[in-house]
Amino acid sequence: MAGVKEDDVLVRDESFVKYERLLSKAESEGRIDGPNKCLVCGMRYLSKDEADHCCRINT
Ligand SMILES: [Zn+2]
Repeated sequence: MAGVKEDDVLVRDESFVKYERLLSKAESEGRIDGPNKCLVCGMRYLSKDEADHCCRINT
């Protein structure tokens, strides 16, 4: 999914929903206090790989 300017608000809203979902998932998995932090949203992960892929849009 490429960034489209007219969908900026929608994309941001979806990102927030995704963040909320990830936060719930992280809490349920007990990894909210991991040492590795996503540079985009600040979510913490146990592995750096997970943190790196947190908010990355895979193509
Ligand atoms: Zn993130």
